[in-house]
Amino acid sequence: MASVMLGIDGVTVTEAEDEADGRLTVWARVTRPAACPECGTVSESVHQYVVTTPRDVRICGEDADLCLVKRRMECAVDICPRGTFTESVPQVPPRCTITRRLLEHAGAEVAGRGITPAEAARDAGISWPSVHEAFAGAAGRLLGDELAPVAYLGIDEHRRGRPRWRRDTDTGEYVQLADRWHTCFYDLSGNQGMLGQVEGRTSDDAAYWLAGATQDWRDAVEVVAIDMCNIYLSAVKRMLPHAKVAVDLFHVVQLAVKTTGDVRRRAIREKYGRRGKAGDPEYGIKHLLERNLENLSPDNFATIIDTLDSDREGQQIAIAWIAKEKLRDALKLRARITRSAPCERQVRDRLYALYDWCAQHDGIPELVSLAQTVSRWEDQIACAVLTGVTNATSESLNRLAKLEARLAYGFRNPANQRRRVRIACTRGTRRRTAR
Ligand SMILES: [Zn+2]
Repeated sequence: MASVMLGIDGVTVTEAEDEADGRLTVWARVTRPAACPECGTVSESVHQYVVTTPRDVRICGEDADLCLVKRRMECAVDICPRGTFTESVPQVPPRCTITRRLLEHAGAEVAGRGITPAEAARDAGISWPSVHEAFAGAAGRLLGDELAPVAYLGIDEHRRGRPRWRRDTDTGEYVQLADRWHTCFYDLSGNQGMLGQVEGRTSDDAAYWLAGATQDWRDAVEVVAIDMCNIYLSAVKRMLPHAKVAVDLFHVVQLAVKTTGDVRRRAIREKYGRRGKAGDPEYGIKHLLERNLENLSPDNFATIIDTLDSDREGQQIAIAWIAKEKLRDALKLRARITRSAPCERQVRDRLYALYDWCAQHDGIPELVSLAQTVSRWEDQIACAVLTGVTNATSESLNRLAKLEARLAYGFRNPANQRRRVRIACTRGTRRRTAR
């Protein structure tokens, strides 16, 4: 019964005793035919008994010391080059001092619960390198070697650590050794989480990673989601010429909200000759102007109209505010909101209405530049509205990547970091599919 409870194949418990310090000592011996590893002959002649103490998992939640008695056998075959050999079981291979199941448990703790290898090692009473190796093996099995095809790819920048510089002894100038910005790639349609990251955030950095993927993988990408940034746009055009590009709509709205704020600040300065402060009616509604129109109560709406309707400066702010809502009108056509497939003509018509509005009020320079920026990104905005692809997942996975770096107190080895981050990014999906 004790042997069954210990649960190591080929091992029989002979004795168990409670020590004075509360630990449990389990004595066991190997009971399976001992075959010579060289010639495969089963031997019966014992040369010596050896006691090993492999680290094992807790037994019923208690720390236990396993004393495993192994026999050193003599090979009975005369011509066999092997004189003696020690018997072993699969859980404790020759020359191993940790049971396989303890390693597996520690590796699974890191992969499944998100604790660090150092913490898992402390808990299991074994060393960091042992747990790390077990985790690397488990991660390899979970993630696979090759990236699966990705239909929607996200590219985003991500700040990590601090830049490092070195002074050039000849020129006296500082040379950058490590960039604090990384470019990260995400699987937005599947469940692979973060696919990879490269140091730097130039177009070449992004193209370099994309060039490392296979041609088949690149061909499978249908839509790429990026922030409103020309750098990644040119990298995508170079490496994924067939893919459509969707710009993240959050940043489009953010731009319009910022424009409204810029107009408000300039108008206040023109009206009062100073920056706005508490007590100015225009200053008082600044947070109302940032809200979505549909989230304003009738009172809020009336407050905005009353404040802005009275003078020329107020009317300028109102015009910028309306421009923001006109832009949002176009973005509101996405299927997530309307529950029906949007039509490209309609999206472009509504964007045209925004340009028209900005052109009618071209005395406001901020609106002109808003219209110019939006029209430059019109194709990418329309693509985002039509496909509904956003970079929101990238942003949330970024947070996971940062958390992982904090837990590790920073990484020295980029390969380890990539592995830990990818495991962290896919943990949620793994849990859901296991359920
Ligand atoms: Zn032999």
